[in-house]
Amino acid sequence: MLAADPTPSLSVTAGDAKLRVAIVGAGPSGLFAAQALTASEAIGRVDIFDRLPTPFGLLRYGVAPDHPNIKQVGDALERVLRHDRVEFYGLVDVGVTLPLDELRYTYDAVILSFGATGDMLLKVPGEELHGSRSGREFVEWYGGHPDAAHQSLTGKDAVAVIGVGNVAVDVARVVLKDVSSLAITDMPQEVLDELDQHRRTASERHDVYLIGRRGPQHAAFTTKELRELLDLPGLRVTVTDGDLEQVDTAVLDRRTRSNVEAIRDAVERSAASDGHDGPTLHLMFWSRPVRMTGDGMVEHLVVERTAMVDGLLTGTGEETVLNVGLVLRAVGYRGEPLPGVPFDRERAVIRNQAGRVIDEDGRQVPGLYTAGWIKRGPTGVIGTNKPDAVETVASLLTDLVGTTPKTGRVAAEDLLINHGLAIARFEDWLAIDAEERRLGATQGRARTKVATWDELTDLALGREDSDA
Ligand code: NAP
Repeated sequence: MLAADPTPSLSVTAGDAKLRVAIVGAGPSGLFAAQALTASEAIGRVDIFDRLPTPFGLLRYGVAPDHPNIKQVGDALERVLRHDRVEFYGLVDVGVTLPLDELRYTYDAVILSFGATGDMLLKVPGEELHGSRSGREFVEWYGGHPDAAHQSLTGKDAVAVIGVGNVAVDVARVVLKDVSSLAITDMPQEVLDELDQHRRTASERHDVYLIGRRGPQHAAFTTKELRELLDLPGLRVTVTDGDLEQVDTAVLDRRTRSNVEAIRDAVERSAASDGHDGPTLHLMFWSRPVRMTGDGMVEHLVVERTAMVDGLLTGTGEETVLNVGLVLRAVGYRGEPLPGVPFDRERAVIRNQAGRVIDEDGRQVPGLYTAGWIKRGPTGVIGTNKPDAVETVASLLTDLVGTTPKTGRVAAEDLLINHGLAIARFEDWLAIDAEERRLGATQGRARTKVATWDELTDLALGREDSDA
């Protein structure tokens, strides 16, 4: 922990003639960038800043809790944070509590890798009603993100998930999965309790509608993730009549053919089994949401059948009303601009060429780079961020190796203390980590996430819990 010092003094860094780089965002892309930077002897120091007191970004808060294998990447990324030329500064909100310009003045280069923190919108009436939530918000809730608002599932026997990408599949699976198999994950206890309560009180017919605006052959999900959903024990799977029949699998690539076959298998299996009294997953392709209605809360989702006409997705006018109490809009994350940084509003990414930030006229902004989802858009798996970060670091090293480092500038610690910021360092994250493991052990699991700002900052800043 670094506490605010009322009488700060400015120390200067030694003129060791090596480059210093700041990274904004300690998620996979920022940490992969740090890893690539430390491979160069020209880099003397890499300081990683994050708004949260916890590193790992989407790996911690976006990867589904029941996918522990993906989370193992965290072990490799933690080694990056332990590197003797890498420092972690959590609880620093660059652009809010620390101006970006000060980082740019202090460091030879700044890499912006703060991810995509917003949501794509459907732009349909009723989208703002209670009970309409983005997939990102729902994922953050069950993933224990401290910003996430509580999600009540009481009375939500029918849920619609819009979009047919892997986030849609993740949220549908969590809603449908047996709670005992989630209880071994690191989900916050409060989330498990809500899911458990929901299962106990939900009617036997528990319906989830997964809604794709195009056909099953166009869905973005990957087959492994899709099968994990379709193969949930006791799940009945249906598909709208005609959606599979019109697919010519002979013309499909391997992934999309496997997707269609997985759906066909699951639907046939469900049709063959009788006496079903468990949950049902309704796959509705060629359907797009047109409005949500309800008295302050979502009560109905109206979807319209679609068709491809002359290569354009078109509404047919045929509407279906679904009685649902929760609509999860999993139609993509969206990057948010950082004031003063050139932003491509259409693509919702920082303007860049191979990670070099450029202005509207294509001129390079000196010393400013970007990596990850805010560089290329919200696509790809965790591993995709490695080559992406390597590309950015290659651009940075090409530009800066051989130039004179900015020696004599303020050290990171002083910069932060001068702004009166209480900072979480790597060892403070380890205190959170230890508490999560301790909590988990009391519940027979490896980890239970600490999910509130108060608890996280108390642990990070070494404050005693007054209730303890
Ligand atoms: P995605 O893969 O881009 O899927 C978005 C889905 O939303 C698509 O089906 C898209 O349909 C649909 N959509 C977009 N706008 C829509 C609208 N206005 N109305 C109706 N549907 C709309 O995005 P994502 O699911 O958010 O995933 C982001 C990335 O993370 C992906 O690369 C994904 O693979 C990855 N991820 C991976 C895992 C995993 O490996 N387990 C888990 C989660 C996420 P169209 O195709 O018609 O536009």
